[in-house]
This record gives sequence, structure tokens and C-alpha cells, in this order.
Amino acid sequence: MEEILDLVVASRTLAEHGVIDAYGHASIRSPSNPQRFHMPRNVAPELVTEADILELDLDSEPIDAKGAAPYNERFIHGEIYKARPEVMAIVHNHSHAVVPFSCTDHELKPIFHMSAFVGLGIPTWDIRDAQKGTDMLVRTRELGAHLAKKLGAHPAVLMRGHGSTVVAENLPRAVGRAIYLDLNARMQSQAMMLAGPGGRVAYMDESEVAANVAWQNYERAWRLWKTRVLAQLRK
Ligand SMILES: [Zn+2]
Repeated sequence: MEEILDLVVASRTLAEHGVIDAYGHASIRSPSNPQRFHMPRNVAPELVTEADILELDLDSEPIDAKGAAPYNERFIHGEIYKARPEVMAIVHNHSHAVVPFSCTDHELKPIFHMSAFVGLGIPTWDIRDAQKGTDMLVRTRELGAHLAKKLGAHPAVLMRGHGSTVVAENLPRAVGRAIYLDLNARMQSQAMMLAGPGGRVAYMDESEVAANVAWQNYERAWRLWKTRVLAQLRK
């Protein structure tokens, strides 16, 4: 199935960009059954093949695990698919550049045209608001639902001291957003350092954000990423 192959492309592309390390994951809602989703079994994303992709229900339980262990944090995906019927793809990642924004009062703002969606607002979820003394991972449906509530209608949510979760209406958009969220965080940190305390940094304004977000699907980038991964798989 083309969609399953695309999920392999997404996993390997995110790994190649350093957005997901051995621990992040991408998923898609099933094109044939909105009550199910697909994500890889517990394996490093840059090694994922079509044979590793599992089907799960919206309680994040595998339909047939085929003897494979699912990811501990699969509840992030199931609970967001429940809460957001229009969301078709999700990327959860531990991108290093965004973490400082999750644990300071500095908000992520849209600094670069390719990451205009940041201007739609990115809330920060603190797992302590849901449960004290966790190992920071979203290991239960309850924690997943709490995170989904903080995400609300936004395109992404930061997770304090952990990473972020990015959503979209299609997979190329979710992958593009995850990659450019990381780049936005890096550029914003650099601009803030250059500007110094209280210095000026010019961000995209609301009208620029609206004009960009309407069409930005990262389609050209997706075609490039897919070509690269298919060549890799043929080797
Ligand atoms: Zn995580």
C-alpha cells in the first residue's frame, strides 16, 4: 500500500534530518478506517521497512502485533486521532532545538517563511499537570488524552523537557512541519542571541502567517525526500 510506503519514507526522512533520533515516531490514520492508525513497531526510525508497520486501534492497541513490541508512547497518537478527526498524520519527536523553548518563558515564534505555521500558536504541555513523578514518557491513554487537550486545535504542542508532537491533515505536511519546527527553533535561538537581551527580532506577522499556511504542504520537499528514500531501499 502506497500509504505504508510513505510512512517508511517519513520515518527515514525525519531520522535523516535529525528530527527523530532512535526514539521518535511518525504515524498515519488508516486511509480505509478512520478508527485505526498505522505506526512502526518499536524500532529505530531510520531502519523502518514496510514489514515493521503495525495497525492499531484508537485506544493505541495493536490489531495484530505479529509478535512485535509497539512503541511505549503510542498513546500520543491514538488520543490525538480521537480528539482531532481531521488529523491524518502525527510526528512525535525529541528534536533537541525545541526543548529549550519547552522549559523557559520564551515562546516559539514564526521567524522563517517555511515554518509560518508556528504563528498559529504552539502551546507547551507539562506532564506534571497530569501526573507527578513520571519518567516523562506518555505511557498511558490518560496522559495521551491530557496532551491532546493541551494541543487543542493547534498544529503542534511542545512537551516540557521532552520534545514535541506535530500534526497535519496529510503526511508530507506533518513531516515538513516537524523538520521546519526544528529549524525555526534553531534560527530563533540564534536570532535571540544575536539581538541580545531586550534586542529586536522581527517575526512574521499574522497576515504573513495566514497567507503562507493556506498553501504550504512541503510538496516539492516531499518528492525529493521520497526519491531519496526509495533509492536507499533499492540498494
Ligand atoms: Zn517521546
